[in-house]
Amino acid sequence: MKVRVLGCSGAIARDCRTTSFLINHNILIDAGTGVGDLTLDEMAQIDHVFLTHSHLDHVAALPLMLDAVSSLRSQPVLVHALPATIAALQTHVFNNTIWPDFSRIPSVQNPFLRYRPLVEGRAVHVDGTWVQVLPAVHTVPAVGYAVRGERGWWAFSGDTERNPAFWDQLEQLTQLQPPRPVGMLVIETAFSNRESELARRSLHLSPQTLAAELAHRAGDTSYPIYITHTKPSETSLILQEIDQMGLSATADIRWLQAGQVFDV
Ligand SMILES: [Zn+2]
Ligand SMILES: [Zn+2]
Repeated sequence: MKVRVLGCSGAIARDCRTTSFLINHNILIDAGTGVGDLTLDEMAQIDHVFLTHSHLDHVAALPLMLDAVSSLRSQPVLVHALPATIAALQTHVFNNTIWPDFSRIPSVQNPFLRYRPLVEGRAVHVDGTWVQVLPAVHTVPAVGYAVRGERGWWAFSGDTERNPAFWDQLEQLTQLQPPRPVGMLVIETAFSNRESELARRSLHLSPQTLAAELAHRAGDTSYPIYITHTKPSETSLILQEIDQMGLSATADIRWLQAGQVFDV
């Protein structure tokens, strides 16, 4: 399974794109501004979009992408999300004011997009790919994901604060038959320790709470951990703090960057 990082920044600036990952050629995890780097042909191949939550940095490119490929596709794009996330999109984005309601255009029978409600803790199988819905703790209803690759699970925290249930469920996944380890983990660290109060209030992680979260890892903990969602203005400080705290003594910590492609 190929995972291509389209965007992993906590905000925009030149060379900074917000959260989006392309799994193989047909599945998008979140639809942040990184989607804009795909060619028209690549966008047209996306049949499934899994959203972690309704915040703009994770959905901004969805309405624009659907519009771009509308004349190239014959089947609706399926948008998988929590019911609350779907309701937010219907009320605040595809409301015929901000953008047309593509779930009824060009026709109710064959629209550009169809919603597929998700349940946390359940799995969805799409075109042979297993997508597990994991919990997240954020200011709006949110989830993380684990996607089953040939060699291991690609796990993604989504936007979250402290989240012990995430680690329990990840550990349970590795014990399913046949056993598959965690291949890599993408976990957010949106703020520096200096901004830990802001992190707490906005339900994001900082290096301190990241360290506490990593202590929940169980079983084989040798998998690489990629830090994502850093604010561009804080990235170097966040990485410096992670370094100074000595987290790399017990974890293989790296910084995720747009354009990276992983074989999982
Ligand atoms: Zn968020
Ligand atoms: Zn975010």
